[in-house]
Amino acid sequence: MTVVTRFAPSPTGMLHIGGARTALFNYLLAKRNGGRFLLRVEDTDKKRSTDEATQAILDGMEWLGLTPDDPPTFQSKSADRHVACAMDMVEAGKAFRCYATPEELQARRDEGETKRAAAKDDSLSDDEKASLRAEADVLLAPYRSPWRDGGTPPSPDSSYTIRLRAPDEDEMTVRDHVQGEVTLKTREIDDLILLRADGTPTYMLAVVVDDHDMGVTHVVRGDDHFRNTFRQLPIYWAMGWDVPEFAHVPMIHGSDGAKLSKRHGALSTLAYRDMGYLPEAMNSYLVRLGWSHGDQEIFTLDEAASVFDLNDINKAPGRLDLEKLGDVNAHFIREVHESRLLDLLSPEIAKLADLSDELTERLQQALPTLKERGQTLPQLAESCRFLWDSNADNLNKKARKALQEDGLKRLSDIREALDQSDSWTIEALQHVLESYCAAHTLSMGQVGPPIRAALTGGLPAPDLAPVMYWLGRDEVLARIGKHLSA
Ligand code: GLU
Repeated sequence: MTVVTRFAPSPTGMLHIGGARTALFNYLLAKRNGGRFLLRVEDTDKKRSTDEATQAILDGMEWLGLTPDDPPTFQSKSADRHVACAMDMVEAGKAFRCYATPEELQARRDEGETKRAAAKDDSLSDDEKASLRAEADVLLAPYRSPWRDGGTPPSPDSSYTIRLRAPDEDEMTVRDHVQGEVTLKTREIDDLILLRADGTPTYMLAVVVDDHDMGVTHVVRGDDHFRNTFRQLPIYWAMGWDVPEFAHVPMIHGSDGAKLSKRHGALSTLAYRDMGYLPEAMNSYLVRLGWSHGDQEIFTLDEAASVFDLNDINKAPGRLDLEKLGDVNAHFIREVHESRLLDLLSPEIAKLADLSDELTERLQQALPTLKERGQTLPQLAESCRFLWDSNADNLNKKARKALQEDGLKRLSDIREALDQSDSWTIEALQHVLESYCAAHTLSMGQVGPPIRAALTGGLPAPDLAPVMYWLGRDEVLARIGKHLSA
């Protein structure tokens, strides 16, 4: 049997990271089993669905590299098929036309509420209270329609909904890879509406029909849908269809354990891209947020796909930890191929500086060292600042101190030695510095600070020899010269 999974977002808002993780789990399960991963856009709520949200979902998934194996499908396009299935169920006696009007249903609920409130009246006897409560319970219980066994319509043109006959068994059980085996009293299930009075299919019906038609074998989704499963199973039974396997994944919580909100960093997936996180870091972090494989912390998509197992999803909600996400991102920034890192970083640098060919060349040379210096792309771009900015007009206190008397004298000597150096390699530059120290019996601690001050004005930067190598002879001599002539 080919494993088929799907991600089925409603395009009513951004693709938040909880949704991205659901997509990721579905993707991994399919890949692990050599199966297929599909995307179905659940756009039946026309009022709340927008093209922008659909696009944001597609963009978010593309960014994460969670490419579906077929082009996305749109639930609203299958409305006729959903209606046909509902009518098949009517035909088979599994569903029925219900002529109860919304007013009748509301009156029933109101009566239930009134009786429930009346049962609190202390002037009544215990027996009277108990009997009112029992009547209220019946009226407020999940609705079982008086039309479930047929009957003559009130008039030939009365409007009706199509409802599924709730199962007659006492109990029903869902076996879930995460939630375990959960049993519910069937009286907690109503006669589910399949088609509304205007003939449109309901969400519950559409999900089941689409999952069946797409050949979905495993439904992996947020545990906010767990209770829906009890309402969806009877549709599979009524249609005589195979029931897929289920895994309802706990929601993501904030670091304080509360349900995730914006305050915790519950942003759209693309907002993380814009904050300078790499998609591979996002995937690695999200897969560990609620799933584990031994004590491995970092996963590439392929690594996760080779070991992913639904039974390793944790039952407890994962907690969003932005510090950890930063560590994971720093790892991937170090690991990523340098030419790709340059591509990723260039737009960030361009926000800060003119990205000339010369600067690009400096970045190419410096990135193997500098890539250690940022958890996100904007942080890394800031760490590269000294490559285009000598900071000469904004020296910090330490730099100002280093550029006085003795310091300037040493700087002048060093400038000359650098000017005369035949070679401009890191080793040659290190040699120039060391020879100067040896010849003047000075330590690097006495010679380094004025050079560093002249080159970076106090901006963070690595060792001097590589810094000089990356900047190039002309730039180094110019930056030093500026302080000597001042
Ligand atoms: N469209 C639903 C949602 O976005 C998901 C339904 C499902 O996965 O069955 O929450």
